[in-house]
Amino acid sequence: MTDIVVLGSTNMDLVAYVEKAPQRGETVTGREFRTIPGGKGANQAIAAAHAGGTVSMIGAVGNDSFGARLRSTLEHSGVNTDHLRTVEFPSGTAHIVVDEEGGNAIVVVPGANGTVDHLAPGDEGLIASADALLLQLEIPLPAVVAGARAARSHGVRTILTPAPAQPLPPELLAATDLLVPNEHEATTLTGRTDPREAAAALLELVPEVVITLGAAGSLHAARGTEPLTVTAPQVAAVDSTGAGDTFVGALAVALGEERPVREALAWAAAAAALSVQRPGASASMPYRSEIEKQYA
Ligand code: ATP
Repeated sequence: MTDIVVLGSTNMDLVAYVEKAPQRGETVTGREFRTIPGGKGANQAIAAAHAGGTVSMIGAVGNDSFGARLRSTLEHSGVNTDHLRTVEFPSGTAHIVVDEEGGNAIVVVPGANGTVDHLAPGDEGLIASADALLLQLEIPLPAVVAGARAARSHGVRTILTPAPAQPLPPELLAATDLLVPNEHEATTLTGRTDPREAAAALLELVPEVVITLGAAGSLHAARGTEPLTVTAPQVAAVDSTGAGDTFVGALAVALGEERPVREALAWAAAAAALSVQRPGASASMPYRSEIEKQYA
């Protein structure tokens, strides 16, 4: 089994579904309200655990009811939370208004995630024991850099999702083995809109890149190899939230099993295709048996 550590965020998504989003100073009545556990770190942890990895999460939740639910959601998916701290801050929240056309407006309040700005005692030992460390950018950068460096020093593969899109410090790039941006993030990092050009530019910074292309699949590029495009299964998508995190979680598991790259990408695409056919993020993340069926 692939041993995976995720260092990242946990958020409770507070989602109001409305006909039309309110303007400044306006009050509107919503149709429905949902609380949905999320955060890119937690989503990738759950995706990897569902896909068959042995997963531990490093991060923080608040000492509140959201924190308790975020922790129990992870545990319910089989994620080890011994290194998920409970801190005296509100849990991270994302306040989301979704209108009838599916458009949204989002305010993220990092809360407890903001306290994850360093590795705590024991975190490095946990990272050292893993096959891969999954990182994103929803916790303070110093912790992301410290995690990547710890992984690098112990020969652990680092897989970085550069989201939310932002410039990356050289010390983080230097400790990244595999970068997995979506098209928008790849453009932000390189200024190139063409994925092949963006991938070529990214290879000057890191040794291996996978750019996810939504329904069009993904593009793999590594130094010294020809770029490889893997298509996504054609499915009727109802909610793409968390597709990228499902893809990365499953990809990490497949790469840890030493599957060839093309096979690992197709397997990850099968997982993500299943997730977009169901509503929600973590709740939509498919289990290994389902992925195998879709992949076959
Ligand atoms: P999100 O932010 O919605 O989690 P993302 O923007 O990070 O996603 P995408 O490139 O949109 O990432 O999607 C990630 C992967 O999910 C794609 O590479 C593809 O395999 C799969 N995927 C996304 N949308 C679809 C779709 N409509 N049909 C099939 N597969 C999809």
